[in-house]
Amino acid sequence: MNFNLNLNEKKHNYAVIIAVILVFVSFLIAVKLLADTAEKHYERQMIVCLDAGHGGDDVGAVSADSKRYEKNDNLELTLKVQEELEKLGMDTVLTRDKDEKVSLRDRCRIANKKRCALFVSIHRNSADSGTGFEAWISKREKEDEHKLAEDLLSVLSESTGLPNRGVKNGYRDITANNYYINANTNMPSLLLEVGFITSDDDNKAFDENLDKMATEIAKVIYDSLQN
Ligand SMILES: [Zn+2]
Repeated sequence: MNFNLNLNEKKHNYAVIIAVILVFVSFLIAVKLLADTAEKHYERQMIVCLDAGHGGDDVGAVSADSKRYEKNDNLELTLKVQEELEKLGMDTVLTRDKDEKVSLRDRCRIANKKRCALFVSIHRNSADSGTGFEAWISKREKEDEHKLAEDLLSVLSESTGLPNRGVKNGYRDITANNYYINANTNMPSLLLEVGFITSDDDNKAFDENLDKMATEIAKVIYDSLQN
């Protein structure tokens, strides 16, 4: 009798142990599934804001022959970068997708409202003489924007053979501390000057390497957001 009782008790104990193991394994599976879902959700939330500088009656800089407007080059490259980022599975938002005037305040508002992970403003430079790429970031650097700016300048310079003029902090003259968009976006941001519209060589390089530049810019942005 006692022997049977012990045997039953042992069986009972084994059943409890197996049940505990099953519950524990189920718990681990559930945690893993939740983590995967959270990760995917997080990835979906990584929105990149692309800002094509100027637009509408604000034409931006103009080429030496007055035929070429910065606003059009900015939009053309921005739309291509968007296409490349979406191919890589990134969500994007544009501050403008056509030739229209959007205030600097609204540009920042769009990015801040969407809680974008990054703000990239695309421009073209102008000067009596000047060639190559430069990037502007805030004097108060946010997170890794300096490295991102450096990486973007490197691939642009490599893609086109035009000089890398480096990453700069602040504003190009002393009338302001920072570019408005760098000062008023909540996320890492930078303003990219994609060659000089006042240089025929830079314009030629811009036109000939547009697709390549867009692909490289998108790749660098994508990589910078993979952690
Ligand atoms: Zn501009």
